[in-house]
Amino acid sequence: MTRKKTKPVASVDSTGRTRTIRRALLAWFAANARDLPWRRTRDPYAIWISEIMLQQTRIDTVIPYYHRFLGTFPTISTLASADLDKLLKVWEGLGYYTRARNLHKAARAVVELYAAQIPDTFEGLLSLPGVGRYTAAAVASIAFGVPRAVLDGNVIRVLSRLDCVKDDPAKPKNRDKLWDRAEDLLDPAHPGDFNQAMMELGATICLPRNPLCLACPVAVHCLARLAGLQDKLPIRKKVPKLPLQVVAVGLIWKGRKLLIDKRKPEGLLGGLWEFPGGKRLRGEKLPATIVREAKEELDIVITPGPQLCVVEHAYSHFRVRLHVFDCHFVSGRVRCRGCDDFRWVRPQDLDRYAFPAANRKIFPFIPGADSATKSERD
Ligand code: SF4
Repeated sequence: MTRKKTKPVASVDSTGRTRTIRRALLAWFAANARDLPWRRTRDPYAIWISEIMLQQTRIDTVIPYYHRFLGTFPTISTLASADLDKLLKVWEGLGYYTRARNLHKAARAVVELYAAQIPDTFEGLLSLPGVGRYTAAAVASIAFGVPRAVLDGNVIRVLSRLDCVKDDPAKPKNRDKLWDRAEDLLDPAHPGDFNQAMMELGATICLPRNPLCLACPVAVHCLARLAGLQDKLPIRKKVPKLPLQVVAVGLIWKGRKLLIDKRKPEGLLGGLWEFPGGKRLRGEKLPATIVREAKEELDIVITPGPQLCVVEHAYSHFRVRLHVFDCHFVSGRVRCRGCDDFRWVRPQDLDRYAFPAANRKIFPFIPGADSATKSERD
């Protein structure tokens, strides 16, 4: 069967339809918007923090972090002058730590280049570290009323269904069309509310599976629903299974203290603390991996002991399985070759440092350590 070519999205719309959809969505949002903390403020700083935190993270997870973050860093200036370690500790457990490091850089840029005033233009926001088209549009529209549309997973789903778009939204050219369509549909008089309404519809009504079309304020305009395709759009590619990395981790004891090291500032989990270890090489026994890593990365000699536990964790692009061994320091003076810093710490003091979630899963197995593991993403 020949696949019917999707028409340009603009052709499925008319000015009248656009106006009606805008009106219906805005009225629905005014009556149904969830009461979220960042919706009670017009402070661009607070809105910006919420938008960064909400990237790839659920609202329920974000709320306590949002309050704690603003309690600790109430203004852009306090964030700019904060110690990165302290920032990472506040962020610990929220995951995707590049966001926190970029927030820090962006806050410094705002203080230095914009006299501590968050830029009120799309372009100004876009120039900040960690701020892409989505975040710039979200902050510009919600905080400053700038007519720029957002496009996230929720909006892609709503648009694909409204216009019955059968193209793969993951492909750049199709994504560009959706951006155009989002800008076209945006209500220029109420861009902040309209953007939030689209996202809210996707999050609460136009669900990925079993959308609640009977409760949808734009159901009569939805071409996917009319075609009975609402459950099939947007088309999804099969997600390949995440590759698994096997890692050996050493709890290296010297007396009653444990060795922890700090990852270099850039890259995955940059700036966080962890227990020494590394990826097993092909054919290598796990205890031998720790001995090798301790020598290569820290220039010390250790003796591996019994395996203490095995923990697993899924990152966005791979999974790790950590085989954790009790080890003992033998000789050498710690020198950070593959890390940024190190400490010998008592188990009860581990909680003062920001660790990735996978390492935190080890805490309950360490006598005397804080057993409050957190299960959020990295
Ligand atoms: S009618 Fe159904 S599929 Fe269409 S936008 Fe509304 S909830 Fe989504």
